Amino acid sequence: MAKIIDGKKIAAETRRNIAERTAAFENTNGFKPGLAVIIVGEDPASQVYVRNKKKACEEVGFYSQVYEMPAETTMDELLGKIDTLKNDNRIHGILVQLPLPKHLDEQEIIAAIPPEKDVDAFHLINTGKIMLGEYSFLPCTPAGVMKMLEYEGIDVSGKDCVVIGRSNIVGKPMAMLLLHANGTVTICHSRTRDLAEVTRRADILVVAIGKADFVTGDMVKEGAVVIDVGMNRRADGKLTGDVDFASVEPKASAITPVPGGVGPMTITMLLENTLTAAVESVGK
Ligand code: NAP
Repeated sequence: MAKIIDGKKIAAETRRNIAERTAAFENTNGFKPGLAVIIVGEDPASQVYVRNKKKACEEVGFYSQVYEMPAETTMDELLGKIDTLKNDNRIHGILVQLPLPKHLDEQEIIAAIPPEKDVDAFHLINTGKIMLGEYSFLPCTPAGVMKMLEYEGIDVSGKDCVVIGRSNIVGKPMAMLLLHANGTVTICHSRTRDLAEVTRRADILVVAIGKADFVTGDMVKEGAVVIDVGMNRRADGKLTGDVDFASVEPKASAITPVPGGVGPMTITMLLENTLTAAVESVGK
């Protein structure tokens, strides 16, 4: 029987701690940490994420603003909004909800956010800092996974870590963080030959593919720690991960469920980054 890693509980405890530090920050400085979220268009999933981010900000005592812009917003209009927020001293974190409508250049938009307000940690400067191991902000999902491992007392040092997925927002930074924690890291992707042979070597297996129930029990070593980043909607509307929980759980020593695993940690780390941005803005 694997230990079920309870992301909801870890997220709740972390948020309580963030709320305490936020109150102390406001007490000392006379203002709240502030997050601005920009959403362009009407993608229903993005609207849910943005609502959840606003709610989470309110819960920990942040100032927060959501800017809803129409789908036909131009680059100039969006860059103009970022420019205004750049100079707004109530705002310490600026987040542009991705994906953007196709006519907008995501890389150019991300590059327009000042690195010190880039609480998603997607800016080139922040991406480079992650590589060097000298960061203020970490991308929220991989940071949430590291927090969970730490909370559960799972030591990464010297372990064989396998990450499936090499996206810029999850797989690549995840691999880098495991490397910084002294794991021996292998990154797998759609061209990996004999994936199961590689994944069976993992002491810690992180799965971020986007394919429901893709990793099955025969792909996992006895006693492995399995972290399921995947979030997939089944035909019946239920959320499911990339790991086939029923066949993997009996072999794992610890595993994250979906829902209730990595998901709740992601927004929590966004709050952590926003508080860090506010703290670092003081005295500048
Ligand atoms: P992505 O950009 O689509 O990347 C998917 C990765 O999986 C790619 O690197 C791809 O390889 C690899 N892949 C696809 N099929 C594969 C296969 N058959 N074998 C091995 N590798 C394969 O996705 P993402 O943004 O990283 O997200 C991954 C999952 O995490 C999604 O379900 C997403 O919804 C979820 N997610 C969850 C959270 C959270 O808060 N819990 C946050 C972000 C994302 P190639 O590079 O070769 O194409």
